[in-house]
Amino acid sequence: MNLFGNGRPDGATTPEKQPAATPKGPSVTNHSLFAGKRPDATALAEDALSLAEAPRGPVPAWSFSVLKKFEECPYRVYLSKVDKIAEPSSEAADRGNRIHDEAEHFIRGELYTDRVPKNLEKLGFEYRTLREAFDESPEQFELEQNWGFTATWGQTGFFDKDVWCRMKLDVFRRWGTSAHIIDHKTGKKFGNELKHSDQGLQYAVGAFKRYPELEFIKVDFYYTDQGQKLEKSFTREQAMVFLPRIEKRAFALTNATAEQLSRPKPSKNNCKFCPHAETGACQWRVAE
Ligand code: SF4
Repeated sequence: MNLFGNGRPDGATTPEKQPAATPKGPSVTNHSLFAGKRPDATALAEDALSLAEAPRGPVPAWSFSVLKKFEECPYRVYLSKVDKIAEPSSEAADRGNRIHDEAEHFIRGELYTDRVPKNLEKLGFEYRTLREAFDESPEQFELEQNWGFTATWGQTGFFDKDVWCRMKLDVFRRWGTSAHIIDHKTGKKFGNELKHSDQGLQYAVGAFKRYPELEFIKVDFYYTDQGQKLEKSFTREQAMVFLPRIEKRAFALTNATAEQLSRPKPSKNNCKFCPHAETGACQWRVAE
């Protein structure tokens, strides 16, 4: 059984034959990015080009998580990235990091036991399948990767001066013109479907940009605590439809001035999950 669970032998490099489980069309057609009338892609691409040439602001690089925070409340990003006020560490984040480490070491076969770790047991079949695939073809895998891109999607170092986009991939497997991306999640699937679909799309765009030979990418989120999955898949053509929109959103952050970044968007929901409600650095916070 391969990673797609369709019985195709591991390492098969026949991209024309897409995995049987693959949905016919993009599973993102109801995605928030498509809400409303779809804008003209050429005009958006031209916009993105001119935005790439515009001066950067005090937060010149984005990642999926920073972009989401910026869209919720720019001031949160300002406090963390410009004022550099440390965010208190959270137990949930520390636990998430530990489970990511466990998953990586299990897939690499580096744990003292061959048993699926307890924290991953609810998706035992999936993690065992990954482990077996890694055993057979380790050269197809990139685990816990940090990818850096310039503003025109050239490859660069994660911390290089010209980095504009940063992506952290937990599991990336590539063969022929196909790839499979897996993101381990310790949080809940319920209520996060749209957000994670958006994240999956951004991973896919990054992978298509990094590997021009890729034509098809499956992106899976493994919710280790619930034993659930969220599965998305994209052809290059489907993902690229969204590219100008993603760029426009990202440039709104990376080209924002300090004044634009310091505009708070207080709300019960935004402030509830903001560490600066806790640090006391934000005078605008809304109490629950
Ligand atoms: S406490 Fe609320 S208003 Fe203040 S930075 Fe955080 S989310 Fe924004």
